[in-house]
Amino acid sequence: MNQKRKIAGCCTLCDKELVDVLSRWVEGHPYAGEPRDIGKWHDGAMRLDFVLSGGSTTTLTFCDDCAGEAESRLPEIWRKCLASLAFEVEYYVAIGHPPMEEAHRRNVHASNMRLAGEIPLGVTSRRKWRDQVDARST
Ligand SMILES: [Zn+2]
Repeated sequence: MNQKRKIAGCCTLCDKELVDVLSRWVEGHPYAGEPRDIGKWHDGAMRLDFVLSGGSTTTLTFCDDCAGEAESRLPEIWRKCLASLAFEVEYYVAIGHPPMEEAHRRNVHASNMRLAGEIPLGVTSRRKWRDQVDARST
């Protein structure tokens, strides 16, 4: 899988780290070097809510600079999100989850296929994560 994907705790577009990183995935791990445990959001971390074509919403993180461009880069943003979901399923156990039972695997697959069939239509709100909650509780 060579598709660029979203990285936990980072800007969805430019991959800039936007949280205090408490620990990272070790070398040799599929997520090597990426944040594993995250702490508080940095001041420039923005929380943007998007409405999807199916009517549901999703929240993504951006740096100050990219937050203003998000609405004009929706296809790129969505491709990274879908790549990240596929990667997570591929390495589900490696990131600390128990192996998926068949019913759970089918539910996750159905959810990911539903999201793959949708597109984000636009941004419904922009706020600082700092004004919301601690990163670990999201
Ligand atoms: Zn950015």
